[in-house]
Amino acid sequence: MNNVVTRREELQQLRARADMATEYAAEMAALRSRKDYLAEYDYFLDLLGLLPHPERFRERFKKPLVGLTCVQAPLELVDALGFHPYRLCAHASSRQRLVSSQLPSLACPLLKSIRGSFHLDESLERLCDLTVIPGSCDWMAKLPETLEGRAPGVHVMELPRIRESERGQRRWLEEVRELKRVLEKRAGRSLSRQALLRSLETHARAWRAWHLLLDARSQSLISATWTTVISHAFLMGDTEGWTDRVNRLLRVLREQPPLSGTRVFLAGSPIFFPNLKVPQLIEEAGMHIAGDELCSSERILAGPALGRDRSVDGLLRSLAEQYHLGCSCPSFTDTPRRLANLLETLHQRRISGVIYHVLKGCHPYDMDSYRYEKIIKERGFSFIRIETDLSREDGKNLLVRLEAFRDLLHERS
Ligand code: SF4
Repeated sequence: MNNVVTRREELQQLRARADMATEYAAEMAALRSRKDYLAEYDYFLDLLGLLPHPERFRERFKKPLVGLTCVQAPLELVDALGFHPYRLCAHASSRQRLVSSQLPSLACPLLKSIRGSFHLDESLERLCDLTVIPGSCDWMAKLPETLEGRAPGVHVMELPRIRESERGQRRWLEEVRELKRVLEKRAGRSLSRQALLRSLETHARAWRAWHLLLDARSQSLISATWTTVISHAFLMGDTEGWTDRVNRLLRVLREQPPLSGTRVFLAGSPIFFPNLKVPQLIEEAGMHIAGDELCSSERILAGPALGRDRSVDGLLRSLAEQYHLGCSCPSFTDTPRRLANLLETLHQRRISGVIYHVLKGCHPYDMDSYRYEKIIKERGFSFIRIETDLSREDGKNLLVRLEAFRDLLHERS
């Protein structure tokens, strides 16, 4: 009987690996066949191509791996202690299918996909010496329990829900200090000030390059499909190589003719490779995403730590503030700045319509969408809410709705 179960599990693993390879290869081929494909995108595509091949990732990056499930955990700290930071941002339907019988059908697709990655015998997630999970939402808070020993090490960061209070900020700083202690123990050495300063500078350079690329997107020199590929490639952790390639790409983009398309803003739940359905459909409907607020895109980097105190603890304090106060995730109770920033960006970038993306099961973004719709419309902007998951079946319906939205924007312009 045991042999039958083992054989069934082996077959399931084999099938999952084959499905995954097919899913990633299909998206990769679709991207390379786009009219706006440039050879400069290959570095980013090659990095993402490592996702289903942990052994190739290991050959390329030798440092011990620390996985992070959310933008709230400071990358600089992980990097400065000699680990390779890897953000667990699976968005593959082949991965989520693996755990469909173990999680609620309405669970967040991102969570299912991450959990599915841990179900595989071989995955980048399983290679992580430590997985750091800030409890950004209820699904993430439950993730550690569902891992059932499949992660070699798990560290949970308790995220205060009220961000703008002194109490919340003190608690978060304590969480960042605790993460430092946990990483130091794993690394077998203390955090050095020089290493932290070096890492802060490396990430500040990446932040500057990323913002120049976002400016290029605002000037319609690059599409959001490609910036999503590039932002996801950043999450693979090769920060210096990535920054260099973004800067090279910027030089090429300046020579490109601008793309056409009605300018829109994309808000809501995150989007990751290989499921780029939403930006691709928006572009197919004749619109250009000139700005967004996604934690998988514009918000991937928290920005330079600005405090004057350059001692290790002073730098930790600045990092904690930068990551916590600067984050506009709707999982916080107080998010007035999120809406204010969004409205300001609409004005600054001459955008008249907001497309609000809700991943089915993503309650924080779902809850906010109703209030956002009301306020955004009251301010005179057009708004459409699209709810979807990682399947492809609703593509035609979404396209029809997006085309109607584009027509509405034309009528109102
Ligand atoms: S915030 Fe939304 S997308 Fe992110 S993990 Fe939670 S439910 Fe999923």
